[in-house]
Amino acid sequence: MVTAKLRPSQVLINETAIAHNVQHAIAGLPQGTELFAVVKADAYGHGLLRVARVAQAAGATGFCVAVLDEALALRRAGFTLPILVLGIIEPAYAPIAAANHIAVPVGSTEWLTQALPGLTAGSDLPPLHVHLALDTGMGRIGFRQVADLKAAAALATDHGDQFKITGLFTHFSTADDPDPAYFNLQVARFKEFLAALPKRPRYVHVANSATSLWHAACDCNLVRFGVAMYGLNPSGRAIETTPYPLEPALTLTSTLSFVKQIDAGEAVSYGATYHAEKPEWIGTVPLGYADGWQRRLQGFHVLVNGTFCEIVGRVCMDQFMIRLPGEVKTGTLVTLIGRSGANEITLQDVADYAHTIHYEIACGLSERLPRVSVAPFPEQA
Ligand SMILES: *Cc1c(COP(=O)(O)O)cnc(C)c1O
Repeated sequence: MVTAKLRPSQVLINETAIAHNVQHAIAGLPQGTELFAVVKADAYGHGLLRVARVAQAAGATGFCVAVLDEALALRRAGFTLPILVLGIIEPAYAPIAAANHIAVPVGSTEWLTQALPGLTAGSDLPPLHVHLALDTGMGRIGFRQVADLKAAAALATDHGDQFKITGLFTHFSTADDPDPAYFNLQVARFKEFLAALPKRPRYVHVANSATSLWHAACDCNLVRFGVAMYGLNPSGRAIETTPYPLEPALTLTSTLSFVKQIDAGEAVSYGATYHAEKPEWIGTVPLGYADGWQRRLQGFHVLVNGTFCEIVGRVCMDQFMIRLPGEVKTGTLVTLIGRSGANEITLQDVADYAHTIHYEIACGLSERLPRVSVAPFPEQA
C-alpha cells in the first residue's frame, strides 16, 4: 500500500512515552528478569523499527514478533538482540530462522521431526533455538501433555547440532480478568510442566503485559511486554489501577480538507443516511475505512479546537464528514485520537464505540497513514 505522505492525515508516535513505559516495567521486575519488547504487527501499528529502536534504548533485551518475516525485517535493519517468533512457523523455513539466529516456538514432536532434515542438510547452520510452548489453557499452540513435552525435549536434545532448547513458555488467556481463578489454574499446569523438564532452559516465561502488571512472577526470568509498552491498559477498562502510569504513545490527526454550510434537509454521504436539521457547517476529513477508521464509527466524534464534533453520514473509504459548531477554516487540525484543548479521545474510546478492543483499532491503522515520531528518544543532541 502506498503511504500518503502528501496528505495531512498522520499517526504521531510519542517515543518518550514508549520509553517511559518500558523503563517503568523494567524497574518493577525482579532482579535477573528480562523484558522482550513485543513488536508484532508493525509494533501494534506504531512502526516496527522505530519502536524496536526505542525499546532497546530503554532497556529491552530482546524482541517478540508474530511471524518469521517480522523477525527478518528486524535482522535486516541491523538488530542483533535475541528475537522470538510467537507463532508456529512452517518446518520448511526452520533453516532461515536458524541462519538468522531467530528463536521459534515448538509445540509438537512432529514439528521437530519435520524441521530436522532441512536443518541437517545445512551443515554450516547454527542450531535452531527453540522455545517449548505449553498449552496450559489458552487452547492455541503448545504441548498439552507432560509426556509429549518430555518426548520432544528428548528428541531435540538428541539432535544437539540442529536444535538448542533455549526457552519454555506459556500464554495466559485471562491475565487481564479481575477474577484470578482460571489464571491460577494455568499457573498450576505450567508448574507441573516445568517440574517435569530435566533441564531448565535459558528463558522461562509466561508474562504478557497484563501478567506483568497484575500478577506476581512465577519463577520466570522474562516478560513479553506488548500492549502496555504502547501505554494501553491490557484490560481495557476492567482493571483501572496499574503499578505505574501507562503513557499512551499514539495520536491520530488530520486537517479539514473541505468546509461548507448545508441547508436544513440536505443529506451527507453514501446512502443519504444523515440529513441536516437546520443549516449546518460540515467539514470533510481526509481519511476513511481504508486507513483503519472503521465504517462503524458513524455517529462517533472527533475533536476540532477542543470541541467534540459528530461524525455524520457514512464513513467512506478515504474521507468522512463531521458537523462543526460553526464556520471553521479549511486546514484546521482534527484530532481523531489524542488530546485537543481540555478534551481527549483515547484508543479505548474508539474501541468501545466500535465494539472491539484497542489492540484491534491500533493495529488496524493502515500503512497508508504515515507514522511520524514526536518526542524522540533518546533525546537527540
Ligand atoms: C501478543 C502476545 C504477547 C503480548 O501480549 P500483550 O497483551 O500485548 O502484552 C505476549 N505473548 C504472546 C504469546 C503473544 O502472542
